[in-house]
Amino acid sequence: MSPHNSSRRDFIKSAALAVAGTPLLDAAFREARGQERKLGFALVGLGSLSTNQIAPALQKTKYCRLAGIVTGTPAKAARWKQQYKIPDRSIYNYDTMESMAANPDIDVVYVVTPNALHAEHTIKAAKAGKHVLCEKPMEASTARCEAMIAACRAAKRKLAIGYRCQFEPHHLECARLAREKTFGDIKRIEGAFGFTIGDPTQWRLNRALAGGGPLMDVGIYVVQSARMLTRQEPTMVSARTTVTDPLKFNDVEESMTFQLHFPNGVNAECSTSYNMNVNKFAAIAERGSFGMEPAYSYGGNRGFRSDGKPLRYDEIDVFAAEMDDFARCILDGKQSKVSGEEGLRDVKILMALYESASIKRPVKVG
Ligand code: NAD
Repeated sequence: MSPHNSSRRDFIKSAALAVAGTPLLDAAFREARGQERKLGFALVGLGSLSTNQIAPALQKTKYCRLAGIVTGTPAKAARWKQQYKIPDRSIYNYDTMESMAANPDIDVVYVVTPNALHAEHTIKAAKAGKHVLCEKPMEASTARCEAMIAACRAAKRKLAIGYRCQFEPHHLECARLAREKTFGDIKRIEGAFGFTIGDPTQWRLNRALAGGGPLMDVGIYVVQSARMLTRQEPTMVSARTTVTDPLKFNDVEESMTFQLHFPNGVNAECSTSYNMNVNKFAAIAERGSFGMEPAYSYGGNRGFRSDGKPLRYDEIDVFAAEMDDFARCILDGKQSKVSGEEGLRDVKILMALYESASIKRPVKVG
C-alpha cells in the first residue's frame, strides 16, 4: 500500500473521530457507516391499515422496525408474534400499554385505532415516554387534539399525524407547480374523495367512534390538498350534507359538498361521500390546470397537466416514506412537517364544516 493511501486513510479516520463528537453529526456518521439503530415502532390497533399497509411498509423502511404491538385480541397477538417475531415482552393490550415505559425496544407508538380513541392512546403512549405517530384524522374534537399536543409536549416527545400524501411524489410535484406558479396564479380548486362503504355495523358509521362520516375519514384529504396548493388557511367555510339511504346513514353523514374560502379569494369546491366512488383534485390556474386522478390511493395515482407534459413518478411506499421521515425527525431533533399542530388545523376546519352543515350558513374557521 502506498504512503499516499495510508495517510489518506489516517486523515479519514481522524476526521471521522472529530465529526463523531457532536450529536447531530454523530447520527449522520453512524448512519453513513450503517450503524444507526433502527427506531422500534409499536402498532396500536391491528386492523386493516396496520395489517395490510403499515406492517408490510415497516419491512421496507430504512430507520424503523416493527418492535411491538398493542391489541385487545389474543388471537391476533399470537399471529403477529409468529409472523413478525415479536417477543412476549413487547406485546401489550390497551390496559397494559402504559407499562411500555419500561421497554427500551419501543421508541415510537403508531396509533391506528378508530378516530375517537386517538387521544386516549396517544396520551397513554406519551406518558410512557414514547414518540407518537397518530393516524388521520387526529381526533374527533379540537379539545382532544389540544390534549394530545399538550401530553406530548409535557413528555418532551414528538407527535406527527399520518398524512401519507405529504410524502407522495405526485402531490409534492403539484405543490411545486402551485408554488412556482407554472400555470400562473391558482384561481379555483376542485376535489372529491369518496367510496362506497360496506358493512353497516362498522365503527366508521358510529359517530361516537368516528367523530363523523366521510368528511372525517376521506374528505380530510381534499382539505389537505386545498391547503397544500394555496399554502393558506381557509377563513370561511360552508357545507351541505345529503342522504339517499337514511337507514344506513342515521348517525353520520352519507355525503357532503363543501367550500373552503381562502383569504386570497380562491375557493375550493369539494365533496366527500360514503356512497360514491370518486378520488381526484384539480388546480385551475390562469394559464391551465393540473392535478391528480386517482389522487389518494395507496398506489397507482396519476398526475395530469393541461399542457400535456408528463406528471408521472415511480411508485414509492408512502407509509414507509412517512415513517422514515418521522424517524429522521426524531434522530435529528427536528419538528415533523405533519406535526400535531398541522393535524389540529385540519380538525378545526372539519368542525367548522359540520357547524356550517348544521346551521346551513357559512362559518368562520376557528
Ligand atoms: P379497522 O377497523 O380495520 O381497525 C381498527 C382497529 O382498532 C382494529 O384492530 C380494532 O380491533 C381496534 N379497536 C380498538 N378499540 C376499538 C373499538 N372500541 N372499536 C372498534 N375497534 C377498536 O380500521 P382501519 O381502517 O385500520 O383504521 C384505523 C385508523 O387508521 C383510523 O383512524 C383511520 O382513519 C386511519 N386510516 C388511515 C388511512 C391512511 O391512508 N392514512 C387508511 C385507512 C385508515
